[in-house]
Amino acid sequence: MVVRRNSAVGEQGPDGGKKTAKQNKTEPVKKTASAKKTASAKKTASAKKAAPAKKSASKAGASKASGTKAAASKVSGSKTSASKTSGSKTSAAEKAAKGGGAAVKKAPAAKKVTVAPKKATARLKGTAPAKAVVHPPGDESPTALVRRARRINRELAEVFPYAHPELDFENPFQLVVATVLSAQTTDLRVNQTTPSLFAKYPTPEDLAAANPEEVEEILRPCGFFRAKTKSVIGLSKALVEDFGGEVPGRLDDLVKLPGVGRKTAFVVLGNAFGRPGITVDTHFQRLVRRWRWTGESDPDKIEAAVGALFPKSDWTDLSHHVIWHGRRICHARKPACGACPIAPLCPAYGEGETDPEKAKKLLKYEKGGFPGQRLKPPQAYLDAGGTPAPPLGAG
Ligand code: SF4
Repeated sequence: MVVRRNSAVGEQGPDGGKKTAKQNKTEPVKKTASAKKTASAKKTASAKKAAPAKKSASKAGASKASGTKAAASKVSGSKTSASKTSGSKTSAAEKAAKGGGAAVKKAPAAKKVTVAPKKATARLKGTAPAKAVVHPPGDESPTALVRRARRINRELAEVFPYAHPELDFENPFQLVVATVLSAQTTDLRVNQTTPSLFAKYPTPEDLAAANPEEVEEILRPCGFFRAKTKSVIGLSKALVEDFGGEVPGRLDDLVKLPGVGRKTAFVVLGNAFGRPGITVDTHFQRLVRRWRWTGESDPDKIEAAVGALFPKSDWTDLSHHVIWHGRRICHARKPACGACPIAPLCPAYGEGETDPEKAKKLLKYEKGGFPGQRLKPPQAYLDAGGTPAPPLGAG
């Protein structure tokens, strides 16, 4: 698995381009700390003689430098993107530490920064709803977190250029039903079950009028088949009675349907209507915590926190990339760290197998040379060497 790196990434701003004036305003948090330390050093200087003042300034600079290094190290282990992305600031701090008086000379520039936010938060242009702000859970700055998160997404886009929803569907009705059925089971099992369901009940009207016992028999392989039968029949009735037999394309309407929560609604909006949405499933929750994108555990709060890191237009593909990575490489119990293309960007590297050969054997689906989950995958997946899943009972 060869991943091309974008060598310019370290210089790019959070939006993938040059830094904006707004973003630059968010960065001087460290400078303010530096200014405070410098001011403190100056105070020391005025209280004592000139020579001791230089000594204090040197200590302040050294302290800042070691603090910066410690933060970078905490975020990303021995060799990380954090250290890469904040490299220029670290270098400056190191210079200050080495050349004692330099910190005092830089004081006037630091004084210009008078509006540094009290908390380490940053609002990023065009990334999220108006009130969304970035709150890194650790010592990483908001700007560094945005850069690292977006770089992870770019890397994953290269690893999984064919990423797509792994449920087979031909229209919004099939997608919403398949997504409801996917609770507590694999997409593969749903894909192996839905062909016979949709062959017999192709429309909401057909499924709304179905005999529950017959539907239960079809859905038995999906598990929880009685509850799921109740859900899809109830869902179909609501579509017929409230939406003229059509799946609505608005979040507020979708979540009113029986068995449809925000996660299902965003899957449908993103993949059947082309409206951006973040799908916070079990893989997404696990990975964003490992990557320290957020410390939240509530799915709605995770959705808001991660949404603030990315432009809205990235949300649907981001969801696919993260979920695909979780299913193939970054498993819950045994993540394949030694075969992971984003290991240098991951604070959780080492949580799983680090031996490359052993890690390779943990890879799943096309990454491990196995069939995928869809019986009818998109052409891009087949072109990349992926193979379709077998029908029910065939393997
Ligand atoms: S596989 Fe390991 S290195 Fe890769 S994202 Fe998961 S925890 Fe991090």
